[in-house]
Amino acid sequence: MRLDVVSIFPDYLRVLELSLIGRAATDGLLDLHVHDLRDWTRDRHRTVDDTPIGGGAGMVMKPDVWGAALDDVLAAPLPAAPAPGNVKDAPAPPPGARPAEPRRVLVIPTPSGDLFTQRTAEDLAGAAQLVFACGRYEGIDARVAEYYAAHGVEVREASIGDYVLNGGEAAALVMIEAIARLRPGVLGNPDSIVEESHTGAGLLEYPVYTRPVAWRGRDLSTEQPVLLSGDHARIARHRRDQAITRTAVRRPDLVAGIDTALLDAGDRVALARNGWVAPAGGSHPVPLVIRPAREPDLDALADLAARTFPDACPSFLTADQVAAHIAANLSPQRLATWLEDPRVVLTVAELPDGLPALTCDGAAAEPLPRGALVGYSAVLAELPDADGALPVGLDPRPRAVTVPDDADGAGLAVELSKVYVDARLRGSGIAAVLLAEAICDADTLGATVLWLGTNDANRRAQKAYRRVGFRRAGTRTYDVGGQQCRDVVMVVDPRGSQQA
Ligand code: SAM
Repeated sequence: MRLDVVSIFPDYLRVLELSLIGRAATDGLLDLHVHDLRDWTRDRHRTVDDTPIGGGAGMVMKPDVWGAALDDVLAAPLPAAPAPGNVKDAPAPPPGARPAEPRRVLVIPTPSGDLFTQRTAEDLAGAAQLVFACGRYEGIDARVAEYYAAHGVEVREASIGDYVLNGGEAAALVMIEAIARLRPGVLGNPDSIVEESHTGAGLLEYPVYTRPVAWRGRDLSTEQPVLLSGDHARIARHRRDQAITRTAVRRPDLVAGIDTALLDAGDRVALARNGWVAPAGGSHPVPLVIRPAREPDLDALADLAARTFPDACPSFLTADQVAAHIAANLSPQRLATWLEDPRVVLTVAELPDGLPALTCDGAAAEPLPRGALVGYSAVLAELPDADGALPVGLDPRPRAVTVPDDADGAGLAVELSKVYVDARLRGSGIAAVLLAEAICDADTLGATVLWLGTNDANRRAQKAYRRVGFRRAGTRTYDVGGQQCRDVVMVVDPRGSQQA
C-alpha cells in the first residue's frame, strides 16, 4: 500500500517513522511519502491560503496550489493490482481482459465529513494508494474535493469525530494507524485484530486483565474465577457476555446497530439481560424492559396470556379445552387478583419502542406497537393469608417437591406458575431473563424451593428450565379444560440468587 500525506507541516508526520507503522514502512509493507504542500506554490512567499470569498473570519487553502499537488501525487506510479485470474479462488478473467486499475483514494480530513469508523478503515485497507490532503485554517477550498470526485477519483471527506482540530495532520495520523494495522504483516500477531472493539458484530471489547491476579483489593480468582479455569469455551462466553454488557452500558447506539445475523443464542440472552432484544428475522436489536406488571397492563397481559398459553399445550387438547382453561385461569380478573396479592410476583417483558415489521420463520410478521407486552411470568408463594387461604390459582404442590428448611427451621415453596413469551420472540433470550428474575423473586419471597410443572412433551421448555438450574423432580397430572395432562415437575433452590 502506498500512503501519501500532503501537509504544510511535514515534520508533524515524523511520528509515522515510529512504532509498528514505522517498522512496516522499513520492512516495505507500507510505502510512505510525506509531501510539503508549499513545494507546489509559485510565489516568493510560498502562499497556500487566501481570504474567504464572501467574507468572514480566517483563511481558506487555495485550490490552485492543492490542485497542482494532488495532480502529481495521484499520478504516482503504482504496481498493477492483481488481475482477477491471479487471485486465489477467483474465476478466470475473460480472454483479453486488462489488469484491474489499482484503487486510489483521496482522503480529505474534515470535521464536516462522513464519520471515519472501523468499517471505513476496513474498506480503505483494501486500497492500493491513499492520499491524505491535510487542511489548515478554515479548510481547503470546497472545489478541490468536487473537482477530483467529478474526474473519476474516489474521494472521501472524513471526520474522525465531532470536534474540531487545528489541522488535518492529527486526523490523518489517526486514520493511517487504524488502516495500516489491518494490512497483512503490520501487526506482530494477526489474531489481535479479530476480537477487538468495533470488529465483527461491532461490540466494544471485554475488559482485559493480566498478572498479578490479585491487585489492590481486587482478586480475579474470586471475582471472575472462570478466567482462570482454563476452559476456553466458558472463557469465550464470559468475555462475550462482558463485551455485550459493556457495549449496552457505554454505547447503546452501537447495540442498536448490531446486525442480529452475527449473534448466537448466548449473545441474545446477554443482550436481553442488558435491556435489548434481537428477534429472529429482525435486522437490529430493539430495547426491552423487564418490569413488574401494573394495573394498566391487565388487558394487554390477558391478551398475551391467551395468545401464548396454546403454544405450550399438547396437540391432543381441543381448542375448546384450551379456551376453557384460559377463561378460568388467565382472565383479566385473575391477573388483577394476582396484581393485588403481595404473595404473587407478576413480571412483564415490554418493548418500549415496539418492533418493526419483520420476517419470522419466512413469513412476514406485523409490527408491534410501542409498549407491546411480549412476555410475562407469575411466581406464587405458598403462604396462607390471615384467613388461612393460599393465593388464588396456586396449583397443589406435587408430592415430588420437597421443601427444605432454612436456617430458622422454616421452609417455603414457591410455584413458578407461568412464564410465557410471544412466539415470534422465541429464542430471543427473553425467557431466560424472565426465568432468572423469577428465581430472584422466589429468593426475595423467602423460598427454599421454586417449582414448576410443564407438559411432558414440551422438551424445548424443559431444556430452557434446565439451562437456568432447574432439575427434574417427578411428574404430576394437570387439568386443562377437563382433560388430564401429564406434566414434568422441576425444582430449583433459589437461595442466594439475588447476590449472584
Ligand atoms: N472551518 C472548519 C469547520 O468548521 O468545519 C474547521 C477547519 S479546522 C480548524 C482545520 C482543519 O483541521 C480541517 O480542514 C481538517 O483538515 C482538520 N480537522 C479538524 N477537525 C477535524 C476532524 N474532526 N476530523 C478530521 N479533520 C479535522
